[in-house]
Amino acid sequence: MAEILDGKAVAAEVRAEVAEGVAQLKEHGVPVRLDVVLVGEDPASVTYVSSKERDSAEVGIASRVHRFPEDVLQEQLAALVGQLNRDPAVSGFFIQLPLPVGLDAVPLISRIDPAKDVDGLSPMSAGRLAVGLPSLLPCTPHGIIRLLKAHGVELAGAEAVVVGRSNLVGKPLAQLLLREDATVTVCHSRTRDLPSVTRRADVLLVAAGQREMVGVEHVKQGAAVVDVGIHRREEGGLVGDVRFEEVEPIVGWISPVPGGVGPMTRAMLLHNALRAARTTAEAALR
Ligand code: NDP
Repeated sequence: MAEILDGKAVAAEVRAEVAEGVAQLKEHGVPVRLDVVLVGEDPASVTYVSSKERDSAEVGIASRVHRFPEDVLQEQLAALVGQLNRDPAVSGFFIQLPLPVGLDAVPLISRIDPAKDVDGLSPMSAGRLAVGLPSLLPCTPHGIIRLLKAHGVELAGAEAVVVGRSNLVGKPLAQLLLREDATVTVCHSRTRDLPSVTRRADVLLVAAGQREMVGVEHVKQGAAVVDVGIHRREEGGLVGDVRFEEVEPIVGWISPVPGGVGPMTRAMLLHNALRAARTTAEAALR
């Protein structure tokens, strides 16, 4: 029987820490504000943004959503990014992705001031992470490391195998695991004989976006398995990239879907907003 990597519980701890930090900053006259740029009416994006607003309110972080219709011009969004960078009342902000077809997210994200880049996805933030400089870390990978540590999973010296190499999850996760002194292998859709690689893992992190692709043939007995995937089932509910029922009996730790990585991602956004506010306040004092 595996120990469940309980994202709900660890996320609640993170939120409590953030709420305390936000209250302390407020005592010093520094409010924390997290802004969001939302373009179009994609139902998933609208739902994500309202849950992030709710999460923020719960820990005392103010938020403002900048809404635009789908036919907004790239230049208008670029101008807003500049404005949010300069606005001292905004601690941090992010652009809800994906953007509607016709808009290019990369140049917009590239313009975000790294000190306010609460998603940690700008090329500057990614570069700083890669060379070991302090930066705001991407929420999902950061949340995964926090979750593993909270459950006492040893990373230093461990064989870690990441399935997926996206800029959002796989690559920054590999960087963070390296920073924790794991021996890291990154797999992708062109990896030959995936099970022979993943079976080496003491810590297996699956972010392939392929519903229930990982089964017993992919895992080593006693390993820690983190399932990043999220897929909606037709009959209702969510499943991940891992066949939970099959894998759980033979591994040491496993994250469930839902209740694993998802809540951690949400909590780490709040953590980043607090960190951004602290950095901005410290810079103002200098
Ligand atoms: P992407 O589609 O951007 O990347 C998927 C990666 O997996 C690619 O690198 C791809 O390889 C690789 N891959 C795809 N199929 C296979 C395969 N059969 N074998 C090995 N590697 C494969 O996805 P994201 O990284 O954005 O997200 C991954 C999953 O995580 C999704 O289900 C997403 O919904 C979920 N997610 C969950 C979050 C949470 O908070 N829980 C947050 C973010 C994402 P290649 O590069 O060669 O194409």
